[in-house]
Amino acid sequence: MSPDKYIKNYINGALVPAVSGEYFDNYNPAIGQVYSHIPDSDEQDVQQALEAAERALPEWKRMEPTKRFRILTRIADIIEQNLEEFAKAESIDSGKPFAMARSVDIPRAHQNIRFFATSLLHFSSESHSMPNQAINYTLRQPIGVVGCISPWNLPLYLFTWKIAPALATGNCVIGKPSEMTPMTAYMLSKACIEAGLPEGVLNIVHGHGAKTGQAMVEHPCIKAISFTGGTETGKKIISTAGPMFKKLSLELGGKNPNIIFADCDFDEMMMTTLRSSFSNNGQICLCGSRIYIERAIYEKFRDELVKRTQFLKVGDPFSAVTDLGALVSKAHMEKVMGYLTLAEVEGGTILCGGTPVKMKGEYADGYFLRPAVIEGLTQDCRTIQEEIFGPVVTITPFDTEEEVLGFANGTDYGLSATVWTKDISRANRMAENLEAGIVWVNCWMVRDLRTPFGGVKSSGVGREGGLEAMKFFTEPKNVCIKYS
Ligand code: NDP
Repeated sequence: MSPDKYIKNYINGALVPAVSGEYFDNYNPAIGQVYSHIPDSDEQDVQQALEAAERALPEWKRMEPTKRFRILTRIADIIEQNLEEFAKAESIDSGKPFAMARSVDIPRAHQNIRFFATSLLHFSSESHSMPNQAINYTLRQPIGVVGCISPWNLPLYLFTWKIAPALATGNCVIGKPSEMTPMTAYMLSKACIEAGLPEGVLNIVHGHGAKTGQAMVEHPCIKAISFTGGTETGKKIISTAGPMFKKLSLELGGKNPNIIFADCDFDEMMMTTLRSSFSNNGQICLCGSRIYIERAIYEKFRDELVKRTQFLKVGDPFSAVTDLGALVSKAHMEKVMGYLTLAEVEGGTILCGGTPVKMKGEYADGYFLRPAVIEGLTQDCRTIQEEIFGPVVTITPFDTEEEVLGFANGTDYGLSATVWTKDISRANRMAENLEAGIVWVNCWMVRDLRTPFGGVKSSGVGREGGLEAMKFFTEPKNVCIKYS
C-alpha cells in the first residue's frame, strides 16, 4: 500500500499511465520540493475511463446488494488496516499534521465507505396509493456513469464522501482528486484492486482541473457531476454542464460566521473557537473565519484569542506537538499573504501572526505561516467578504442580535454558522434566521453522516450526506398502475 514516485491512473481495474505518457510534478509542501509525479491526463484518458465504466455498469447496477455491500466494506477495511501508510501519505501530500490525518482524515474516509455500504442495504423508495384507483411506486435507479471531483483540503475524506454513495447506489464512477493531493486516491486504487472491486466500476483519472476535470464535465456520457471546490470553479462547471442538463451537486466556498454572545460558556467557546479558526490551517470550508463577539466580552475574548493563537505550534507535520503544518502550496501561501497585505490596506490591524515561519533543516523551504488574527475591518471590505481559506480570522464586536445577523448574512456565502449562547430561545431565533446550510450551536464540526450537508447562496447547490446523497445519485421513476 506504499506511495509510489509515479502515480498512475486507475482505469478498467488497472494502474496505467496517462495516454499522453506525460507527468507533472507533485510537491511536498512542508519541504517545498517535488517528491512524486502525476499523470497529465486529458480527454483521451477520460474517454477510456468512460468506456470501462460503461462496460462495468450493467453488472454493477444489478449486483445483489449484499455483494456490493461486501466489496465496499472490504475497501473500507483495507484503508483501516493501512491507517499509518494512508495518514503518512496524506500528511506528506497536503502538509497537514500526521496526527490530524491519522485521527481525522483517514478514519473518516473508511467511515464514509462503510456508512454508504450499509446505507445501500436499507435504501428504499416510496409508494403513493390512490384508493380504489391506482398505486404509484417509485423506482430509484442509478444514473449511470457519474463524475466525482474533489479538492485538496481533506483529500481522501472528501473523495470517499462522494464516490461511496455513488457506488453504493449502483453507479459506475470516474473520480478526479485534486492535482495537489492525489496520493491517497492513488492508494485507494490499490485498495480497490485488492478488495476485488470489478474492473471499471471505479476509475480514477489524475490531472489538472482545467484539462482532466473539464473533460469530465464536458463529456456528454457522464450524466452527473458531484463537485466540491471553489465557487469560481463551480460557476464554470454550471456554465458547461447546465446547458447539457446534467445533474449537479456543488459544494462550494464559505466565509462562515462564528457568533459569540456574552452569556456563552467562555472556556468551552474559546477552546472550540481556536479549532474552528485554525484547524487544518483554516483550510476547511467550515472554518469560522469571521468572528463576531458581543461587545461586553470583546476585549476579554480578543486578548485570550491572541494569546492562544500565539501559543500554537507551527512546523514539522510529523512532530507530535505540531498544531499547524504547512499550507498546501506556494501559490496558496502567496494568496493568503496577499490577503494579509490587503487587510492592512483596508484599515485592519493584524494583532498576531501573518508572517512566514523560518524553519531550519529539511523544512527550510516549506510553506509555513503563523496564524493571524485581524481586527478593525468594516463589513464591506474584501478581507471580510472573500474566502481566504487560510489561517486567518477577523474579529468584530457587535451590540445586538439584529446587528450581528446582518453581519453574518452580509456576504455572498452561506455554508455554515456557529452560535455561542446559553439562551435557548436566542439560539433558535438565530438558527432560523441565519442564511446557512448548517448551523452549530455551542459546538463546531460535530458531524452526523446522516444529516444534510451543503450550502446556500454562493456556497453551493444541492445537499450531500445520508439520504440526500443516495437520492442525488439515483433517478426516481414513478410507475403508476391502475386497477379496478
Ligand atoms: P478548486 O475549485 O480549485 O478545485 C476543486 C477540484 O476541481 C479539484 O480537483 C480541481 O482540480 C478541479 N477543477 C479545477 N478546475 C476545474 C474545471 N474547470 N472543471 C472541473 N474540475 C476542475 O478548489 P480547491 O481544490 O482549491 O479547494 C478549495 C475550495 O474548496 C475552497 O473554496 C473551499 O471552500 C472549497 N471546499 C468546499 C467544501 C464544501 O463542502 N462546501 C469542502 C471543502 C472545500 P485541480 O486541483 O487539479 O486543479
